[in-house]
Amino acid sequence: MTTTVAAVLHVDLIKPRARYECFRPGCPQPVEQPARGDDLRHFISGIKTEHLARFHGEHR
Ligand SMILES: [Zn+2]
Repeated sequence: MTTTVAAVLHVDLIKPRARYECFRPGCPQPVEQPARGDDLRHFISGIKTEHLARFHGEHR
């Protein structure tokens, strides 16, 4: 089974903070801003919806 890595989500639960690196070709915003606390939830959901839909035409 082959897995293609299109993006990496870094989540640091100690700090806490998160960083999202998008490896999709031609991504205009490959690295999202770090988030913490309650923003983390919005940050992750924002990636899965807004970023992919906005920049890559993906809807999930
Ligand atoms: Zn992207």
